[in-house]
Amino acid sequence: MKTEFTPQHLADPDTAASEAELRRCVRCGFCNATCPTQVLLGDERDSPRGRIYLIKDMLENQRAPTAETVTHIDRCLSCLACVSTCPSGVNYTRLIDHARAYIEQRYDRPLIDRVRRRFLAWVMPNPTRFRLAMGLARLAKPFAPLFGKGPLRAMLALTSWRSARCAPSAEVYPSPKPPRARVALLQGCAEPALRPEIRAATLRLLNRMGVEVVLARDEVCCGSLSHHMGFEEDALAAARRNVDIWSAQRDLDAIVVTVSGCGTTIKDYGWMLRNDPVYAERAATVSAKALDVSELIDRYGLPEISNPQALTVAYHSACSLQHGQQIKDLPAHLLEKAGFTVRRPAEAHLCCGSAGTYNILQPQIAGQLRDRKLANLDHLAPDVIAAGNIGCLIQLNRKEIPVIHTVQLLDWASGGPNPLDTRNA
Ligand code: SF4
Ligand code: SF4
Repeated sequence: MKTEFTPQHLADPDTAASEAELRRCVRCGFCNATCPTQVLLGDERDSPRGRIYLIKDMLENQRAPTAETVTHIDRCLSCLACVSTCPSGVNYTRLIDHARAYIEQRYDRPLIDRVRRRFLAWVMPNPTRFRLAMGLARLAKPFAPLFGKGPLRAMLALTSWRSARCAPSAEVYPSPKPPRARVALLQGCAEPALRPEIRAATLRLLNRMGVEVVLARDEVCCGSLSHHMGFEEDALAAARRNVDIWSAQRDLDAIVVTVSGCGTTIKDYGWMLRNDPVYAERAATVSAKALDVSELIDRYGLPEISNPQALTVAYHSACSLQHGQQIKDLPAHLLEKAGFTVRRPAEAHLCCGSAGTYNILQPQIAGQLRDRKLANLDHLAPDVIAAGNIGCLIQLNRKEIPVIHTVQLLDWASGGPNPLDTRNA
């Protein structure tokens, strides 16, 4: 794609990076076929190629964002299916991240929109505030029909009826065997508040594998929720804090992440802080050490499968795992090695609509994507659905078929408690 940025504009490193991606795009439109919003809405402006044009026009002319551009950029899930599809290797992540930050700095959103977004960015990355908000939401849930069809109702719909017990909180979980590795486990914000049993299962499984696990004190949210809403300074502050915390830990072989959305962001810290002379090198080191939990299990090997289960698992591949980190088959292969029968749904590349705060900010589109995903998963007649991202687990949660994290099944098969027994939740 031909671009006409001025040398002054290109002096800005973010603009220069975006220009490089724009020039790589040959406008073929292959990406449009796998884009969930294009598939649902059928509007070129809601496709990757259409958004690339909107972003180019905005950045190249240093234009103030229009309401139309903001609408179509906001509708993007950042699912990155377009990155997996693009034959020219366009890194759309760079473009959409830059566009969101640009919009946040220059566009005057309606007051209610600003308040909603700031509220989410204040509550969700903080586990204490998030737990408190979940408690209040549980009380308000019976009144959800009174809140119309907007974001507040969507938030209440995502609230679980059960209240989560506190997750384990010791700082070091030593392996009973001589340790083969020492890792930090990202503690996260939403996952421990909504499903603390995931961390408990991960700690048991990794210890059983001979891996010592550190829960680093004073670690904060990875920053991805702020990052995806365009609050770039907040996201960078979180990244710097975590880089400090993990760099201070001795002998870490890896930084392990059970929430694939967070893992994608931490693997990008090196890029996010590349222009910060104080942090660039350490951020790159942190990113290089970041692993999805499935990658760590694959590296050190599953423990003995002492309790195999004859169950059919529908594996839902989170976008952040399959597109963001390009980890497509590994978790399903681990489940098969552990004795489960694994099936993949049709349209596995399409997002379930969770996408960070998307299901709260864009509830209609998110609801359509959830229903489509659930229909494809139900078609497999599974006993259980597995995924590696808390957002997907909550988005797809229903009474009919349990939706749990992949590590919970691997932990069960290797001697842990039955995660389908609600008494273990
Ligand atoms: S597939 Fe790649 S090159 Fe083709 S339009 Fe999409 S982003 Fe551009
Ligand atoms: S990130 Fe997802 S929703 Fe956004 S343009 Fe790419 S495929 Fe479409």
